Order: sequence, then structure tokens, then C-alpha cells
Amino acid sequence: MEAASAKADVRQVAEEATGAVDGAGDQDATFNLELSQDQRDIRDWVHGFAEQVVRPAAHEWDEREETPWPVIEEAAKIGLYGFEGLAQFWMDPTGLTMPLVNEELFWGDAGIGMSIMGTTLAVAAIYSAGTPDQLVEWVPQCFGDQDEPRVASFCSSEPDAGSDVSAIRTTARYDEAKDEWVLNGQKAWATNGGIAGVHVVIASVDRELGARGHAAFVVPPGTSGIEQGSKVKKHGLRASHTADVHLDDCRIPGACLLGGKDKLDERLARAREGESSRGQAAMKTFEVSRPTVGSQAIGIARAAYEYALDYARERVQFGRPIVENQAIAFTLADMKMEIDAARLLVWRAAWMGRTGKDFDSAEGSMSKLKAGEVAVWATERAIQVLGGNGYTREYPVERMHRDAKIYTIFEGTSEIQRLVISRAISGARVR
Ligand SMILES: Cc1cc2nc3c(=O)[nH]c(=O)nc-3n(C[C@H](O)[C@H](O)[C@H](O)COP(=O)(O)OP(=O)(O)OC[C@H]3O[C@@H](n4cnc5c(N)ncnc54)[C@H](O)[C@@H]3O)c2cc1C
Repeated sequence: MEAASAKADVRQVAEEATGAVDGAGDQDATFNLELSQDQRDIRDWVHGFAEQVVRPAAHEWDEREETPWPVIEEAAKIGLYGFEGLAQFWMDPTGLTMPLVNEELFWGDAGIGMSIMGTTLAVAAIYSAGTPDQLVEWVPQCFGDQDEPRVASFCSSEPDAGSDVSAIRTTARYDEAKDEWVLNGQKAWATNGGIAGVHVVIASVDRELGARGHAAFVVPPGTSGIEQGSKVKKHGLRASHTADVHLDDCRIPGACLLGGKDKLDERLARAREGESSRGQAAMKTFEVSRPTVGSQAIGIARAAYEYALDYARERVQFGRPIVENQAIAFTLADMKMEIDAARLLVWRAAWMGRTGKDFDSAEGSMSKLKAGEVAVWATERAIQVLGGNGYTREYPVERMHRDAKIYTIFEGTSEIQRLVISRAISGARVR
């Protein structure tokens, strides 16, 4: 199977993604739980890569706490990592292929999975804020090429601006004489921060407007004034690089403002007049990516469940396999049920996003919240099923548990998801 066999045209995807043409509308976007042949083929192809390449490398890269470049190179070689592959996954008019791919890859290993998929957060920001021309220029550069893959980084969070995106202090000043933007500030927790080619930075153009004064900028590869700060040593997802990023008089061409200056000026003028906004750069990015992030959590949960099920069938205590005890069997039954329920929420949200439905009850947030919490719970249960072995690094479920925990924290913590959902369903100013 070649991901690139149905080669997607860069501009076609760009125009569809930015709404310049309506793509999903003229294709069959019927939501069907019986997956199509294409969806099954792609799922099985990614599963094969996860099983043969990712999983055998998982322990090593978790221990090394380094970006697994050889695995990224393998993924690039087969077309799983790169613009063509991503475009093909995204083009599925039902929206299901993206979660299918992510679930399988993260079933293999979440740290390596994030090293491969972390780039898509920057790509999603370019998709949601950029013009078709900007997409054509920057998205392929996020990935590099098959011989020399690169990664990209999305830099929104700061030391004092995590859940509270409106507190971003990084500034962007326009130097009209040179038609350049000058970025200054410190970003925190950036996946691929400092090792990326393309960085997408959220900065404030007008601090008085809070989040409505934000804009997204592409910092091209090789730009001076952008540097990696401390690399973070983490609890889980250790094969994925996370670091601070410093911006010190970082000058980028005027054209690197995503969406363009005219659009920004119009938006700022509306905000200054007190008109309601239709979304902020960072929040919009999160909305697009939440079901995909949920599917990654489901991949981890499913991996832990399958491992625990196999173990429970084989492990004998008191003269019988431990799965014959209701305490173990019911735990496994609940794990399976919760994982399947979470997946249905993810598929619904992915389908809604791709077909342009309104998220009236914050269904995207629901999917990520449920999947993240199920992953933490199911991986902890898997440790319990394995007993002492589950608690050791000789067995993968303790790594899966460490990896799962991030899914209640990044891309909006569980508390923030509940805030978004409760506000959506009630219309109240829930705090
Ligand atoms: C491994 C990793 C990778 C990451 N990758 C990226 C990345 O690529 N790009 C990026 O920009 N960021 C990234 N982040 C940052 C991540 O998005 C933030 O950590 C997250 O948004 C939470 O922000 P915080 O850590 O500052 O927590 P805080 O916002 O300080 O929250 C602390 C606690 O308070 C709670 N809380 C806060 N406000 C409220 C409220 N109003 N109501 C109820 N509870 C509240 C939170 O839910 C949480 O439990 C990453 C983080 C990690 C750990």
C-alpha cells in the first residue's frame, strides 16, 4: 500500500481547507460504521508499520528520551510522514481516516507517534489561519522531504499562558519600512520546539485586546533570533521532544503572517470597535485537532487493553488463568466498553469537523475529554491486571500509563474541556 498512490494536489487541499472551494460537499460523506475498503486499507497499512517498526523501537526511545529520527525517516520513506500522506488522510470526506491512522500509530507507541504526528499541530495552525498560497508554501516545508524529513512546531503556550491563552506575552511588531514582523518572547512546552524547521508562533499584536489581538506567524527554517531553551524531562511521551523556545528580535518577512495583513487589520479594527469575534488563532487550531488527539489516546488505551487481555488469559494463579476471575474479566469488559464508547465520540466529532457541522455541544471537546480520561483509566487498570509485572519497565503497560497522562493535560486540560462543554450546553458564563 502506498499512501501517495492517490496523490493529493497541494493546492486542491489548500483551497478546500481554507474554504476557497467546497471539497467534502460533493463527495459521499455518509457516516458509516462499516468502514470503506480505502479506510480499511489505510488502517491496516498503518497498523503494519506500528507493529513492525514502531512498537519494537518503543522501549529504546522512551529510555533515550530523544527524537527517533530513524523511525521518522522510515515513516517518510513509505509516505506515512509527509504532506502527501497527510493530505490523503485528510481528504477522506467522512473525516474518519485521520482518527483511524492516529489510533493505529499510537497503538504502536505514543512517544514515537507524537514524534511523527507532532508536526500536524503546526500544519493545523497553518490550515486554520493561512491563505491557500501560504499553505502551498509552508505545509510541505513542515515535513521536509523523503530523504531529509524535518519536523515542525506549534508554539502557543508560555510560562504564564497555558490554559489562559489570552495571557500570551510574546509580541509581534510590524516594521513597515522593511515589511517585516519582529517577534519577542518566550514559548514553553513546544513539541519539537527548537529542533523544528518551521515554527508556527502565536503572538500578540495588540496586548490590550487579549486573545483577540493574537495572530499566527510562520518562522521559516534558518531564521535567526529563534532558539531552543531548556529541553523538558517528562513523565511520559519521552521519545517526543518538548522544549522552551526563545524569540529575541526574531525578524520574519511580512508575508509570514498567516492570513495576511489586510485580514489582520480588519479583525483588529472589529475587535477595537467591540464587535464579537469569530474565533482566535490558537483556539481555532485546537478545535480542528481535538478529535485527532482523542484518537491518539484511544490508540494507547487499546494497546494497554489488548496487552492486559492476553496476559490475563495466560497468567495462572490458584490453578486457573486470572481471566477466569470476575474481578479481572469485568475489568477487561469495562475497558473494552469504555474504549469503544470513546472511539464513537471521536468518530462523531471527526465527521462533524470534516463535514462542517456546528459543534453546538462542543462535541470536539467531548471526544478529547472522554478519550483522554479513558486512556488514563484503562492504562492504570492494565497495570493492575499485570500485577507486579505491570509496574516494571520490562512490560509496556507502565510506559503506556505514563504516556496516557498527557491526554488530560495538553490541547486543553480536562477541566478546560469541561468548561467549554458546560458553556456550550448551558450558554452560562461558567467559570
Ligand atoms: C508534553 C507536552 C507537550 C506540549 N506541547 C505543546 C505544543 O506543542 N504547543 C503548545 O503551545 N503547548 C504545548 N503544551 C502545553 C500544554 O498545552 C499546556 O501544558 C496546557 O495547555 C495546560 O497549561 P499549563 O500547563 O500552564 O497548566 P495551567 O493552565 O496552569 O493549569 C493548571 C491546572 O489548573 C486548572 N485550571 C486552569 N484554569 C482553570 C479554570 N479556568 N477552571 C478550572 N481549572 C482550571 C487546569 O485544568 C490544570 O489542572 C505541551 C505540554 C506538554 C506537557
